[in-house]
Amino acid sequence: MTVSQSETYRIADLGQSLLNRKIHLRGWVRTRRGSKGFSFIQLNDGSNLSGLQIIADEKLENYEEISKLSTGAALEVWGTLVESQGRGQDFELQSEQILIRGTAPGEEYPLQKKGHTLEFLRDIAHLRPRTNTLGAVFRIRNTLSQAIHRFFQDRGFLYVHTPIITANDAEGAGEMFHVTSLDLEQLPKTKAGKVDYDQDFFGTDVSLTVSGQLGAEVFALAFTNVYTFGPTFRAENSNTARHLAEFWMIEPEMAFMDLQGMLVLTEEFLRELLKECLDRHEEDLAFLQKMYDQELISGLKHICDTPFETLTYTEAVKILENSGKSFEFPVEWGCDLQSEHERYLSEVHLGGPLNLIDYPKDIKAFYMKQNPDGKTVAAMDVLFPRLGEIVGGSQREDDGESLLHLMREKGLPEETYQWYLELRRFGTAPHSGFGLGLERLVQFVTGMKNIRDVIPFPSSSPAPVATMKKN
Ligand code: ATP
Ligand code: MN
Repeated sequence: MTVSQSETYRIADLGQSLLNRKIHLRGWVRTRRGSKGFSFIQLNDGSNLSGLQIIADEKLENYEEISKLSTGAALEVWGTLVESQGRGQDFELQSEQILIRGTAPGEEYPLQKKGHTLEFLRDIAHLRPRTNTLGAVFRIRNTLSQAIHRFFQDRGFLYVHTPIITANDAEGAGEMFHVTSLDLEQLPKTKAGKVDYDQDFFGTDVSLTVSGQLGAEVFALAFTNVYTFGPTFRAENSNTARHLAEFWMIEPEMAFMDLQGMLVLTEEFLRELLKECLDRHEEDLAFLQKMYDQELISGLKHICDTPFETLTYTEAVKILENSGKSFEFPVEWGCDLQSEHERYLSEVHLGGPLNLIDYPKDIKAFYMKQNPDGKTVAAMDVLFPRLGEIVGGSQREDDGESLLHLMREKGLPEETYQWYLELRRFGTAPHSGFGLGLERLVQFVTGMKNIRDVIPFPSSSPAPVATMKKN
Protein backbone atom coordinates (compact mmCIF):
# COMPACT_ATOMS: atom_id res chain seq x y z
CA MET A 1 0.00 0.00 0.00
CA THR A 2 1.37 3.42 -0.85
CA VAL A 3 1.41 6.20 1.65
CA SER A 4 -1.39 8.15 -0.01
CA GLN A 5 -3.78 5.19 0.24
CA SER A 6 -3.56 5.07 4.03
CA GLU A 7 -6.86 5.30 5.83
CA THR A 8 -7.63 8.44 7.83
CA TYR A 9 -8.17 8.13 11.58
CA ARG A 10 -8.98 10.31 14.58
CA ILE A 11 -6.34 9.95 17.25
CA ALA A 12 -8.85 8.80 19.87
CA ASP A 13 -9.77 5.83 17.67
CA LEU A 14 -6.26 4.42 17.41
CA GLY A 15 -5.72 1.11 19.14
CA GLN A 16 -3.85 -2.16 19.26
CA SER A 17 -5.55 -3.46 16.12
CA LEU A 18 -3.92 -0.74 14.03
CA LEU A 19 -0.37 -1.52 15.17
CA ASN A 20 2.08 -1.63 12.28
CA ARG A 21 -0.55 -0.33 9.87
CA LYS A 22 -0.10 2.67 7.65
CA ILE A 23 -2.44 5.46 8.64
CA HIS A 24 -3.20 9.09 7.92
CA LEU A 25 -3.76 11.67 10.67
CA ARG A 26 -4.49 15.39 10.74
CA GLY A 27 -4.16 17.88 13.54
CA TRP A 28 -2.29 20.70 15.20
CA VAL A 29 1.15 20.72 16.75
CA ARG A 30 1.11 20.98 20.52
CA THR A 31 4.85 20.80 20.96
CA ARG A 32 7.86 19.94 18.88
CA ARG A 33 11.32 19.17 20.14
CA GLY A 34 14.37 18.28 18.16
CA SER A 35 16.78 15.53 18.97
CA LYS A 36 19.79 14.28 17.03
CA GLY A 37 18.44 13.33 13.61
CA PHE A 38 14.75 13.46 14.71
CA SER A 39 11.91 15.73 15.66
CA PHE A 40 9.24 14.67 18.15
CA ILE A 41 5.91 16.29 17.42
CA GLN A 42 2.97 16.05 19.76
CA LEU A 43 -0.09 16.17 17.48
CA ASN A 44 -3.62 16.86 18.71
CA ASP A 45 -6.79 16.64 16.62
CA GLY A 46 -9.33 17.43 19.35
CA SER A 47 -10.55 13.85 19.65
CA ASN A 48 -8.77 13.32 22.95
CA LEU A 49 -6.57 15.02 25.48
CA SER A 50 -3.25 13.30 24.96
CA GLY A 51 -2.89 13.40 21.18
CA LEU A 52 -0.15 11.32 19.58
CA GLN A 53 3.60 11.58 19.31
CA ILE A 54 4.87 11.75 15.73
CA ILE A 55 8.45 10.85 14.99
CA ALA A 56 9.90 12.78 12.06
CA ASP A 57 13.19 11.49 10.75
CA GLU A 58 15.68 13.92 9.19
CA LYS A 59 15.47 11.80 6.03
CA LEU A 60 12.02 13.29 5.28
CA GLU A 61 12.38 15.48 2.20
CA ASN A 62 10.94 18.59 3.91
CA TYR A 63 12.73 17.99 7.22
CA GLU A 64 14.20 21.48 7.05
CA GLU A 65 10.69 22.98 7.41
CA ILE A 66 9.56 20.31 9.85
CA SER A 67 12.45 21.08 12.17
CA LYS A 68 11.22 24.65 12.38
CA LEU A 69 7.60 23.82 13.22
CA SER A 70 6.22 25.31 16.38
CA THR A 71 3.08 25.06 18.50
CA GLY A 72 -0.14 25.65 16.58
CA ALA A 73 0.89 24.52 13.08
CA ALA A 74 -1.61 22.39 11.11
CA LEU A 75 -0.32 19.13 9.64
CA GLU A 76 -1.32 16.05 7.73
CA VAL A 77 0.80 13.05 8.53
CA TRP A 78 1.18 9.64 6.94
CA GLY A 79 3.08 6.87 8.63
CA THR A 80 3.10 3.61 10.55
CA LEU A 81 1.64 3.21 14.00
CA VAL A 82 4.23 1.59 16.22
CA GLU A 83 4.60 0.75 19.89
CA SER A 84 6.12 3.65 21.74
CA GLN A 85 9.64 3.49 23.09
CA GLY A 86 9.06 6.39 25.42
CA ARG A 87 7.13 6.50 28.64
CA GLY A 88 3.63 7.91 29.01
CA GLN A 89 2.11 6.60 25.79
CA ASP A 90 1.33 3.28 24.17
CA PHE A 91 1.76 4.21 20.53
CA GLU A 92 3.50 6.68 18.32
CA LEU A 93 3.57 7.34 14.61
CA GLN A 94 6.72 6.74 12.61
CA SER A 95 6.04 9.29 9.89
CA GLU A 96 6.80 8.76 6.24
CA GLN A 97 5.35 11.97 4.92
CA ILE A 98 4.34 15.22 6.58
CA LEU A 99 2.37 17.86 4.76
CA ILE A 100 2.53 21.26 6.44
CA ARG A 101 -0.87 22.89 5.88
CA GLY A 102 -0.36 25.99 7.97
CA THR A 103 2.48 27.24 10.12
CA ALA A 104 1.99 29.31 13.28
CA PRO A 105 4.92 31.68 13.77
CA GLY A 106 6.25 30.89 17.21
CA GLU A 107 6.90 34.40 18.39
CA GLU A 108 3.35 35.49 17.52
CA TYR A 109 1.18 32.48 18.40
CA PRO A 110 -0.47 33.37 21.72
CA LEU A 111 -0.75 29.82 23.06
CA GLN A 112 2.59 28.71 24.32
CA LYS A 113 3.56 25.60 26.17
CA LYS A 114 3.49 27.33 29.53
CA GLY A 115 0.09 27.36 31.20
CA HIS A 116 -2.20 30.33 30.61
CA THR A 117 -4.78 31.68 33.01
CA LEU A 118 -8.44 31.05 32.19
CA GLU A 119 -8.95 34.83 32.19
CA PHE A 120 -6.29 35.27 29.52
CA LEU A 121 -7.85 32.48 27.45
CA ARG A 122 -11.27 34.21 27.53
CA ASP A 123 -9.70 37.07 25.59
CA ILE A 124 -8.56 34.73 22.83
CA ALA A 125 -11.75 32.76 22.43
CA HIS A 126 -10.86 31.98 18.81
CA LEU A 127 -7.83 29.97 19.94
CA ARG A 128 -8.70 28.67 23.40
CA PRO A 129 -10.54 25.54 22.12
CA ARG A 130 -7.04 24.24 21.26
CA THR A 131 -5.99 24.10 24.91
CA ASN A 132 -6.14 21.01 27.09
CA THR A 133 -8.66 22.53 29.48
CA LEU A 134 -11.14 23.77 26.93
CA GLY A 135 -10.67 20.60 24.93
CA ALA A 136 -11.70 18.50 27.92
CA VAL A 137 -14.61 20.83 28.74
CA PHE A 138 -16.09 20.74 25.25
CA ARG A 139 -15.73 17.01 24.81
CA ILE A 140 -17.63 16.59 28.08
CA ARG A 141 -20.21 19.19 27.04
CA ASN A 142 -20.75 17.22 23.83
CA THR A 143 -21.16 13.94 25.71
CA LEU A 144 -23.66 15.52 28.10
CA SER A 145 -25.74 16.99 25.26
CA GLN A 146 -25.94 13.66 23.52
CA ALA A 147 -26.67 11.78 26.77
CA ILE A 148 -29.49 14.20 27.58
CA HIS A 149 -31.18 13.50 24.26
CA ARG A 150 -30.65 9.78 24.70
CA PHE A 151 -32.08 9.72 28.21
CA PHE A 152 -35.33 11.27 27.03
CA GLN A 153 -35.52 9.52 23.67
CA ASP A 154 -35.05 6.13 25.37
CA ARG A 155 -38.10 6.94 27.48
CA GLY A 156 -40.31 8.04 24.60
CA PHE A 157 -40.14 11.80 25.24
CA LEU A 158 -40.86 14.05 22.25
CA TYR A 159 -38.23 16.71 21.51
CA VAL A 160 -40.10 19.97 20.93
CA HIS A 161 -38.58 23.20 19.63
CA THR A 162 -40.23 26.07 21.45
CA PRO A 163 -39.86 29.58 20.03
CA ILE A 164 -36.85 31.80 20.66
CA ILE A 165 -38.74 35.03 20.05
CA THR A 166 -41.79 35.12 22.25
CA ALA A 167 -44.51 37.38 23.54
CA ASN A 168 -44.84 35.34 26.70
CA ASP A 169 -42.75 35.94 29.74
CA ALA A 170 -42.54 32.71 31.74
CA GLU A 171 -43.31 35.00 34.60
CA GLY A 172 -40.50 35.99 36.86
CA ALA A 173 -37.98 33.64 35.28
CA GLY A 174 -35.67 36.55 34.57
CA GLU A 175 -35.20 39.92 32.94
CA MET A 176 -35.85 39.84 29.22
CA PHE A 177 -34.04 41.09 26.12
CA HIS A 178 -36.50 42.93 23.92
CA VAL A 179 -36.57 42.26 20.20
CA THR A 180 -37.67 44.99 17.83
CA SER A 181 -37.35 46.19 14.26
CA LEU A 182 -38.14 49.76 15.27
CA ASP A 183 -35.51 52.45 14.92
CA LEU A 184 -34.40 52.98 18.50
CA GLU A 185 -33.29 56.53 17.69
CA GLN A 186 -36.79 57.47 16.51
CA LEU A 187 -39.29 55.35 18.36
CA PRO A 188 -42.90 55.85 17.26
CA LYS A 189 -45.05 56.88 20.20
CA THR A 190 -48.74 56.51 20.95
CA LYS A 191 -50.85 59.49 22.04
CA ALA A 192 -50.20 58.45 25.61
CA GLY A 193 -46.46 58.75 25.00
CA LYS A 194 -45.74 55.01 25.10
CA VAL A 195 -43.81 53.11 22.43
CA ASP A 196 -46.24 52.30 19.60
CA TYR A 197 -45.68 48.59 19.13
CA ASP A 198 -48.43 48.52 16.49
CA GLN A 199 -45.74 49.77 14.16
CA ASP A 200 -43.26 47.11 15.20
CA PHE A 201 -42.58 43.93 13.26
CA PHE A 202 -44.82 41.70 15.37
CA GLY A 203 -47.29 44.44 16.29
CA THR A 204 -46.52 43.85 19.93
CA ASP A 205 -43.64 43.91 22.40
CA VAL A 206 -41.67 40.66 22.06
CA SER A 207 -38.55 39.29 23.71
CA LEU A 208 -36.01 36.50 23.60
CA THR A 209 -37.27 33.50 25.52
CA VAL A 210 -36.34 33.09 29.20
CA SER A 211 -37.85 29.59 29.29
CA GLY A 212 -39.57 27.18 26.94
CA GLN A 213 -41.82 25.90 29.71
CA LEU A 214 -45.18 27.33 28.75
CA GLY A 215 -44.82 26.00 25.22
CA ALA A 216 -43.65 22.65 26.56
CA GLU A 217 -46.80 22.44 28.70
CA VAL A 218 -48.93 22.73 25.55
CA PHE A 219 -47.08 19.84 23.98
CA ALA A 220 -47.03 17.71 27.15
CA LEU A 221 -50.84 17.90 27.17
CA ALA A 222 -50.83 16.26 23.75
CA PHE A 223 -47.74 14.02 23.69
CA THR A 224 -47.59 13.12 27.42
CA ASN A 225 -43.82 13.44 27.81
CA VAL A 226 -41.80 16.12 26.03
CA TYR A 227 -38.61 18.13 26.43
CA THR A 228 -37.03 21.25 25.03
CA PHE A 229 -33.30 21.80 24.68
CA GLY A 230 -32.35 25.17 23.36
CA PRO A 231 -30.89 28.62 23.87
CA THR A 232 -32.34 30.74 26.63
CA PHE A 233 -31.72 34.41 27.37
CA ARG A 234 -31.78 36.35 30.60
CA ALA A 235 -30.77 39.96 30.96
CA GLU A 236 -30.28 39.57 34.68
CA ASN A 237 -27.61 41.84 36.00
CA SER A 238 -26.03 38.93 37.75
CA ASN A 239 -22.35 39.20 37.31
CA THR A 240 -21.78 35.87 38.93
CA ALA A 241 -19.71 32.84 38.07
CA ARG A 242 -22.97 30.86 37.58
CA HIS A 243 -25.03 33.16 35.35
CA LEU A 244 -24.89 33.81 31.63
CA ALA A 245 -26.95 36.11 29.44
CA GLU A 246 -27.25 33.36 26.84
CA PHE A 247 -27.31 29.77 28.00
CA TRP A 248 -28.80 26.42 27.04
CA MET A 249 -31.64 24.95 28.98
CA ILE A 250 -33.20 21.50 29.03
CA GLU A 251 -36.86 21.53 30.07
CA PRO A 252 -38.78 18.27 30.27
CA GLU A 253 -42.52 18.41 30.91
CA MET A 254 -44.48 15.32 31.95
CA ALA A 255 -48.25 14.91 31.93
CA PHE A 256 -49.85 12.68 34.57
CA MET A 257 -46.84 13.22 36.83
CA ASP A 258 -46.81 14.87 40.23
CA LEU A 259 -43.94 16.38 42.19
CA GLN A 260 -42.98 13.10 43.83
CA GLY A 261 -42.81 11.35 40.46
CA MET A 262 -40.63 14.12 39.14
CA LEU A 263 -38.19 13.86 42.05
CA VAL A 264 -37.56 10.24 41.09
CA LEU A 265 -37.11 11.06 37.40
CA THR A 266 -34.77 14.01 38.04
CA GLU A 267 -32.51 11.98 40.27
CA GLU A 268 -32.28 9.17 37.74
CA PHE A 269 -31.62 11.71 34.98
CA LEU A 270 -28.78 13.55 36.73
CA ARG A 271 -27.18 10.34 37.89
CA GLU A 272 -27.20 8.81 34.42
CA LEU A 273 -25.58 11.92 32.94
CA LEU A 274 -22.78 11.92 35.50
CA LYS A 275 -22.20 8.19 35.03
CA GLU A 276 -21.87 8.65 31.29
CA CYS A 277 -19.13 11.25 31.85
CA LEU A 278 -17.30 9.06 34.36
CA ASP A 279 -17.42 6.14 31.91
CA ARG A 280 -16.36 8.02 28.81
CA HIS A 281 -14.04 10.74 30.05
CA GLU A 282 -11.53 9.14 32.37
CA GLU A 283 -8.61 10.95 30.78
CA ASP A 284 -10.30 14.37 30.57
CA LEU A 285 -11.59 14.17 34.13
CA ALA A 286 -8.22 13.09 35.51
CA PHE A 287 -6.67 16.12 33.84
CA LEU A 288 -9.31 18.53 35.14
CA GLN A 289 -8.98 17.04 38.60
CA LYS A 290 -5.21 17.53 38.57
CA MET A 291 -5.53 21.11 37.39
CA TYR A 292 -8.60 22.47 39.13
CA ASP A 293 -10.19 20.36 41.82
CA GLN A 294 -8.58 17.52 43.74
CA GLU A 295 -11.98 16.09 44.65
CA LEU A 296 -13.61 16.29 41.25
CA ILE A 297 -13.97 12.59 40.44
CA SER A 298 -14.81 11.48 43.98
CA GLY A 299 -17.42 14.28 44.08
CA LEU A 300 -19.06 13.00 40.88
CA LYS A 301 -19.01 9.42 42.12
CA HIS A 302 -20.47 10.55 45.42
CA ILE A 303 -23.52 12.01 43.65
CA CYS A 304 -23.91 8.78 41.66
CA ASP A 305 -23.84 6.67 44.83
CA THR A 306 -25.87 8.87 47.19
CA PRO A 307 -29.67 8.89 47.20
CA PHE A 308 -30.92 12.50 47.01
CA GLU A 309 -32.34 13.75 50.31
CA THR A 310 -35.57 15.71 50.23
CA LEU A 311 -36.27 18.64 52.58
CA THR A 312 -39.12 21.09 52.55
CA TYR A 313 -38.33 24.78 52.38
CA THR A 314 -39.75 25.15 55.88
CA GLU A 315 -37.38 22.49 57.25
CA ALA A 316 -34.47 24.07 55.40
CA VAL A 317 -35.15 27.49 56.88
CA LYS A 318 -35.15 25.97 60.39
CA ILE A 319 -31.81 24.28 59.67
CA LEU A 320 -30.33 27.56 58.42
CA GLU A 321 -31.69 29.51 61.39
CA ASN A 322 -30.23 26.97 63.81
CA SER A 323 -26.91 26.71 61.97
CA GLY A 324 -25.28 29.40 64.05
CA LYS A 325 -23.77 30.78 60.87
CA SER A 326 -24.01 34.46 60.03
CA PHE A 327 -24.98 34.58 56.40
CA GLU A 328 -24.54 37.65 54.22
CA PHE A 329 -28.29 37.46 53.54
CA PRO A 330 -30.23 36.76 56.74
CA VAL A 331 -32.77 33.94 56.65
CA GLU A 332 -36.39 33.94 57.70
CA TRP A 333 -39.44 32.03 56.49
CA GLY A 334 -40.59 33.65 53.26
CA CYS A 335 -37.20 34.82 51.99
CA ASP A 336 -35.69 33.60 48.76
CA LEU A 337 -32.73 31.31 49.37
CA GLN A 338 -29.38 32.61 48.17
CA SER A 339 -26.51 30.58 46.82
CA GLU A 340 -24.72 30.73 50.22
CA HIS A 341 -27.79 29.12 51.84
CA GLU A 342 -28.13 26.50 49.13
CA ARG A 343 -24.49 25.56 49.44
CA TYR A 344 -24.65 25.40 53.22
CA LEU A 345 -27.56 22.97 53.01
CA SER A 346 -26.07 20.61 50.42
CA GLU A 347 -22.39 21.03 51.23
CA VAL A 348 -22.20 21.44 55.00
CA HIS A 349 -25.48 20.19 56.42
CA LEU A 350 -25.97 17.13 54.22
CA GLY A 351 -22.73 16.70 52.32
CA GLY A 352 -24.69 15.46 49.34
CA PRO A 353 -27.35 16.13 46.73
CA LEU A 354 -30.59 17.62 47.97
CA ASN A 355 -34.13 18.25 46.72
CA LEU A 356 -35.72 21.31 48.27
CA ILE A 357 -39.50 21.36 47.85
CA ASP A 358 -42.63 23.26 48.87
CA TYR A 359 -41.50 26.89 48.66
CA PRO A 360 -43.66 29.84 49.78
CA LYS A 361 -46.04 30.75 46.97
CA ASP A 362 -45.12 34.44 47.23
CA ILE A 363 -41.57 33.89 45.99
CA LYS A 364 -42.47 31.49 43.20
CA ALA A 365 -44.15 31.79 39.82
CA PHE A 366 -47.93 31.81 39.32
CA TYR A 367 -48.08 28.48 37.52
CA MET A 368 -46.90 26.30 40.39
CA LYS A 369 -49.32 23.85 42.02
CA GLN A 370 -50.69 25.28 45.24
CA ASN A 371 -50.41 23.04 48.27
CA PRO A 372 -53.38 22.47 50.60
CA ASP A 373 -51.68 24.57 53.34
CA GLY A 374 -52.54 27.70 51.32
CA LYS A 375 -49.01 29.06 51.83
CA THR A 376 -46.67 26.92 49.76
CA VAL A 377 -46.43 25.54 46.23
CA ALA A 378 -45.15 22.22 44.88
CA ALA A 379 -41.81 23.60 43.69
CA MET A 380 -38.53 21.71 43.53
CA ASP A 381 -34.92 22.88 43.38
CA VAL A 382 -32.10 20.38 43.17
CA LEU A 383 -28.98 21.54 45.01
CA PHE A 384 -25.50 20.11 44.53
CA PRO A 385 -22.48 20.60 46.77
CA ARG A 386 -20.01 23.23 45.45
CA LEU A 387 -22.58 24.55 42.97
CA GLY A 388 -25.91 25.22 44.64
CA GLU A 389 -28.96 25.17 42.38
CA ILE A 390 -28.63 22.99 39.30
CA VAL A 391 -32.29 22.26 38.58
CA GLY A 392 -35.47 24.23 39.24
CA GLY A 393 -38.96 22.91 38.60
CA SER A 394 -42.47 22.33 39.88
CA GLN A 395 -45.72 20.52 39.57
CA ARG A 396 -47.96 22.90 37.61
CA GLU A 397 -51.30 24.23 38.78
CA ASP A 398 -53.79 22.15 36.78
CA ASP A 399 -56.92 23.54 38.42
CA GLY A 400 -58.28 26.49 36.40
CA GLU A 401 -59.97 28.20 39.35
CA SER A 402 -56.89 28.13 41.56
CA LEU A 403 -54.68 29.26 38.70
CA LEU A 404 -56.87 32.25 37.91
CA HIS A 405 -57.04 33.12 41.58
CA LEU A 406 -53.26 33.20 41.97
CA MET A 407 -52.82 35.11 38.70
CA ARG A 408 -55.14 37.82 40.01
CA GLU A 409 -53.35 37.84 43.35
CA LYS A 410 -50.06 38.39 41.52
CA GLY A 411 -51.60 41.01 39.22
CA LEU A 412 -50.94 39.20 35.93
CA PRO A 413 -52.67 40.23 32.68
CA GLU A 414 -55.35 37.57 32.15
CA GLU A 415 -55.77 38.38 28.45
CA THR A 416 -52.19 37.31 27.67
CA TYR A 417 -52.68 33.97 29.35
CA GLN A 418 -56.12 33.00 27.98
CA TRP A 419 -54.64 30.09 26.08
CA TYR A 420 -52.81 28.93 29.20
CA LEU A 421 -56.04 29.04 31.19
CA GLU A 422 -57.79 27.11 28.41
CA LEU A 423 -55.36 24.25 28.88
CA ARG A 424 -57.03 23.90 32.31
CA ARG A 425 -60.52 23.96 30.80
CA PHE A 426 -59.91 21.40 28.07
CA GLY A 427 -58.51 18.09 29.21
CA THR A 428 -56.44 19.34 32.09
CA ALA A 429 -54.22 16.80 33.84
CA PRO A 430 -51.63 16.92 36.59
CA HIS A 431 -48.27 17.74 35.05
CA SER A 432 -44.77 18.65 36.15
CA GLY A 433 -41.52 19.85 34.66
CA PHE A 434 -38.13 21.26 35.41
CA GLY A 435 -35.33 23.31 33.90
CA LEU A 436 -31.70 22.28 33.88
CA GLY A 437 -29.05 24.76 32.79
CA LEU A 438 -26.63 22.87 30.55
CA GLU A 439 -23.72 25.10 31.54
CA ARG A 440 -24.37 24.58 35.27
CA LEU A 441 -24.16 20.85 34.65
CA VAL A 442 -20.98 21.15 32.58
CA GLN A 443 -19.53 23.31 35.34
CA PHE A 444 -20.33 20.70 37.91
CA VAL A 445 -18.85 17.85 35.89
CA THR A 446 -15.67 19.68 34.85
CA GLY A 447 -15.03 21.56 38.10
CA MET A 448 -14.78 24.88 36.26
CA LYS A 449 -15.37 27.69 38.74
CA ASN A 450 -16.52 30.22 36.16
CA ILE A 451 -19.43 29.46 33.84
CA ARG A 452 -17.71 31.51 31.10
CA ASP A 453 -15.22 28.70 30.70
CA VAL A 454 -17.83 26.13 29.70
CA ILE A 455 -19.48 28.03 26.84
CA PRO A 456 -17.88 28.26 23.39
CA PHE A 457 -17.70 32.05 23.39
CA PRO A 458 -17.84 34.07 26.59
CA SER A 459 -19.71 37.29 25.98
CA SER A 460 -16.68 39.38 26.82
CA SER A 461 -14.61 37.93 24.03
CA PRO A 462 -13.93 39.65 20.72
CA ALA A 463 -14.67 36.42 18.82
CA PRO A 464 -17.99 35.88 17.03
CA VAL A 465 -20.41 36.96 19.74
CA ALA A 466 -22.79 39.83 19.83
CA THR A 467 -22.04 41.53 23.07
CA MET A 468 -18.91 43.37 23.95
CA LYS A 469 -19.87 44.33 27.45
CA LYS A 470 -17.01 43.36 29.71
CA ASN A 471 -18.04 41.06 32.53
P1 ATP B 1 -30.75 31.07 39.96
O1 ATP B 1 -31.49 31.25 41.25
O2 ATP B 1 -29.50 30.26 40.08
O3 ATP B 1 -30.58 32.33 39.19
P2 ATP B 1 -33.24 30.50 38.71
O4 ATP B 1 -34.08 30.21 39.88
O5 ATP B 1 -33.31 31.82 38.05
O6 ATP B 1 -31.71 30.16 39.06
P3 ATP B 1 -34.74 28.80 36.94
O7 ATP B 1 -35.54 29.92 36.42
O8 ATP B 1 -35.37 27.80 37.81
O9 ATP B 1 -33.41 29.34 37.64
O10 ATP B 1 -34.03 28.09 35.71
C1 ATP B 1 -33.77 26.70 35.67
C2 ATP B 1 -32.30 26.39 35.59
O11 ATP B 1 -31.64 27.14 34.57
C3 ATP B 1 -31.51 26.74 36.84
O12 ATP B 1 -31.63 25.75 37.80
C4 ATP B 1 -30.10 26.83 36.31
O13 ATP B 1 -29.55 25.53 36.13
C5 ATP B 1 -30.30 27.43 34.94
N1 ATP B 1 -30.10 28.88 34.88
C6 ATP B 1 -30.95 29.85 35.28
N2 ATP B 1 -30.48 31.08 35.04
C7 ATP B 1 -29.29 30.90 34.43
C8 ATP B 1 -28.29 31.78 33.89
N3 ATP B 1 -28.46 33.11 33.90
N4 ATP B 1 -27.19 31.25 33.35
C9 ATP B 1 -27.02 29.91 33.30
N5 ATP B 1 -27.90 29.01 33.77
C10 ATP B 1 -29.03 29.49 34.34
MN1 MN C 1 -31.99 33.47 38.07
